[in-house]
Amino acid sequence: MGWKLEILHMGTMRCHKSRMIWTKDREETIEIPVFGVLLRHPRYGTVVYDTGLPGNWRDCLPESIQESFPVTSQIPVQTALAQKGLAPEQVDRLILSHLHFDHAGGLSAFAGTRAGQEVLVSDTELANGLVKAFTGSGPSYVRELLDVPGIWYRTVAEEQELFPGLRLFLQQSHAPGLIGLQVETDNHGVVICVSDAVYTEENEETELPPDSPNPQVSQGFLANLRLLQKRRRETGGTLLYGHDLDREQQWLQEENGK
Ligand SMILES: [Zn+2]
Repeated sequence: MGWKLEILHMGTMRCHKSRMIWTKDREETIEIPVFGVLLRHPRYGTVVYDTGLPGNWRDCLPESIQESFPVTSQIPVQTALAQKGLAPEQVDRLILSHLHFDHAGGLSAFAGTRAGQEVLVSDTELANGLVKAFTGSGPSYVRELLDVPGIWYRTVAEEQELFPGLRLFLQQSHAPGLIGLQVETDNHGVVICVSDAVYTEENEETELPPDSPNPQVSQGFLANLRLLQKRRRETGGTLLYGHDLDREQQWLQEENGK
């Protein structure tokens, strides 16, 4: 018996397609999913990767974010977990791929819980995110979502095996030290969760990065993609992209069919 992987669907946003992938048509918009990953193992427990959007997104997200990424649906992480028969208190480990509002937004649900005592995040992203949140210099980093009473962070500085069959690795794309997961699952084989290093399958097929006004978002895209492809070749795994609605829906359908 190994890990079982399930998608935690937590909502959708709309944005210009160019924010996801370089495109000539500057007006085209697309719907993107917000999701986390639930991992369960009979021996090693329950792990959650990313927490979706904040419930109070209307009040706490900066105007610029609400204009660029209007939220079209939002499901709190507690609800997504409840649909799997779980409460935040039953989660053993919480990992944040990075600290943007659509990944760290549900963190407060874990305040005071076992997982909330040591939320795993990369050391470089924690430093980057807190500086941006506390100086107001990066609208994707929202102070009240990150500085939560009852939440403590534990930093990750290098690739490591968190549990047998579950590795955390650091990516140098999108956000400094973006955490990816490599997990050997019973239900999907080896899965490589890349978070926002590769938003969609189209990014991989065309090798085109996003065209964001924030250069950090596309920095290192191609070099990181090559490392991911190497990892996939070596493990025979599948990449789980960060914001690909068609692929996310496909994963969900497969899960429901099983
Ligand atoms: Zn994202």
